[in-house]
Amino acid sequence: MILPVFIYHPDPLKTSTFIPSDQVCRVCKQARGFQYMGPVYPNLGNLIPICPWCIASGEAYSALALEFSDPNLILNDQNDQEVSRAVKDEICKRTPGFNTWQDQIWLSHCADAAVFLGACDGKTIRQEHAEVLPQIQEDYCGEHEVLDEYVDELEAEAGWLVARIFQCRHCSQKLVHIEAD
Ligand SMILES: [Zn+2]
Ligand SMILES: [Zn+2]
Repeated sequence: MILPVFIYHPDPLKTSTFIPSDQVCRVCKQARGFQYMGPVYPNLGNLIPICPWCIASGEAYSALALEFSDPNLILNDQNDQEVSRAVKDEICKRTPGFNTWQDQIWLSHCADAAVFLGACDGKTIRQEHAEVLPQIQEDYCGEHEVLDEYVDELEAEAGWLVARIFQCRHCSQKLVHIEAD
């Protein structure tokens, strides 16, 4: 089954934001084969089954008064420009979020929110996203930390440092946000 298109989060199965499930969606009352596993705002403390289609259409947002990202955690772009209200609405009301330990930070570039590609370990970053290595050096490596050793510590899920990769929709620049447990 093909999921609806989420331009800011194109592969929400790979990121485990949706999992295969026979649960009935709270909004459309249908079992559509997938269930949302990401964060909701406000945090309800328990999981309610929501299908991908009801997130994409905005019906989950309208029916349940829930958002899937926090508009205050969509960061400004490289020129410290805030993204538009329309983009924040698209991310928060019609795009699945993703699970984090702490705040779910969403990166931006070229006056737009960036596309969330998922979390990566150090090896994958070197192989597929090497252009973010200078950014890791600059933003995350301390003065005395060795980049190679730091990148070795990065994990996709478990571990104490998770690196999440985003990509600009306009200039294709890849961006990284690293969360420490
Ligand atoms: Zn639904
Ligand atoms: Zn850009």
